[in-house]
Amino acid sequence: WIYLDNNATTAPAPEVVAAINDCLLNSWGNASSSHAVGQISKQKLVAARATIAKFLGCKPAEVIFTSGATESNHMAILGALQRGESRRLVMSAGEHASMQKLARTLAGQGVTVDFIPVTADGTLDLDAAKALIRPDAALVSVMSANNETGVLMPVAEIAALCKAAGVPLHVDATQSVGKLPFGFAESGADLVSVSAHKLRGPKGVGVLLMKSGLAWPALFAGSQERNRRGGTENLPGIAGFAAACERLATGTETIPETAARVAAMRDCLEAGLKAAIPGTVVFAAGAPRLPNTLYLRFGAIDADVVLNRIEKLGVIASSGSACSAGGSEPSALLVAMGVPRDLALCAVRLSLSDATTDAEIARVIEAIPAALGPLLGEQSDPGG
Ligand code: PLP
Repeated sequence: WIYLDNNATTAPAPEVVAAINDCLLNSWGNASSSHAVGQISKQKLVAARATIAKFLGCKPAEVIFTSGATESNHMAILGALQRGESRRLVMSAGEHASMQKLARTLAGQGVTVDFIPVTADGTLDLDAAKALIRPDAALVSVMSANNETGVLMPVAEIAALCKAAGVPLHVDATQSVGKLPFGFAESGADLVSVSAHKLRGPKGVGVLLMKSGLAWPALFAGSQERNRRGGTENLPGIAGFAAACERLATGTETIPETAARVAAMRDCLEAGLKAAIPGTVVFAAGAPRLPNTLYLRFGAIDADVVLNRIEKLGVIASSGSACSAGGSEPSALLVAMGVPRDLALCAVRLSLSDATTDAEIARVIEAIPAALGPLLGEQSDPGG
C-alpha cells in the first residue's frame, strides 16, 4: 500500500513498538503499588512523563495522561462547565467530530455553544471571535490545525483575546503536534489536547496539558494523575508515546526539517495532480496549512468512487475525518466554508507522514489519473 491517510492515524514507529513490548514484558506492575514490582512501573511512568513534558515544552506536573484526544477534549469542555457558574462555551466551527457531537449534546442540555465561524479559506473569522470571546464564557476551545483541510488556526490571536477577557483557552493540538514545533508555555493556552497515534505512537493514549495552578474537575474519579484522572495508567501506551516523542526530538532530522521535506512532497503531489487531472480543486489552498495535508476534489467525481478506484491501485486515502467517514453527509467544515454540498461530497484527503517517500508520491501522481481516467471525460466541472 501507499498509505496517505496519516491524519486518521500513523503507523507506530519501530522504536515505539519496542518500547511497548518492553513495557508489557518487563514493567507490567501497577505504578500505584508500593511494592518493588509496582515501583519499576512507577519509575517508567516518571521517566515517560518527563520525556513527553520536555517534548511538549511543559512541566511534568502539567501532563495528565488520558486515553487520547477525545477524552482530553471532553475533560476540557465538561470540566469548564462544572468548575464555575457559566453555561456558555465558545468553539470553532471546524472542530473535530468528538467536539461537535459533545457540543450538540450539551446544547440539548441548555448549554449555550457559540461557534466562531470559518472563512471561505477555512481559517477562523477573527472579527467574529472578538465579538464572541467575552468574560461570561466558561471556556474557549479551538484547534491548532484542522484535521480535514490542514489549515493552521490563529491560536496566538485567539489566546490574546482570551487573556484580555479572562477566559481559559483550550487548544486541540492533535493534528499539529509532531508535524510542527510546539511549546505549551509559548502557546498561550491553558489546556491542550494531544494524541499519541497521530505522531507515530500507539492508539488509546494521549494527554491533556493543564497549566500549573489551574484546578479542573476530573472526568473519572480516582487518585491517579494527582486526582485529575482516575484509572490505572496505560503504561505500555505511555511508554510508546514517550518513545514517539523521543524519536522526534532526537531523530536525524529536526521537526522543521521534516516539515519542509514533507511539504515539498505534498506540493509536488498537488502540482502533479492538478497538471494531470483537469478540474482538480484544492480546498483551503490560500491558507497556511499543515505540511502533510492535501484536501481536494477531482472535478465533480464523488469521493467514494475516487477512493474505491485508487485503493484498487494500492493508494489509501480518505474523504476527510475518519470519525465521520462512512456516511453520505458532506464535511460540515467544507459546507461552513461555503462549498456546495454536492461538491463537498467529492472531497478527498491525502495526508502524508515522515515515512512517505518521493517514490511513493511519484507513483501516486501516476496512479490517481490512471484510476480516474475513464471518468474524467464523463464529468464536467461545475466550478466553485
Ligand atoms: N482532535 C483532532 C483534531 C483529531 O484529528 C482527532 C483524531 O482524529 C481527535 C481529536 C481524536 O483523537 P483520539 O483518536 O486520540 O481520540
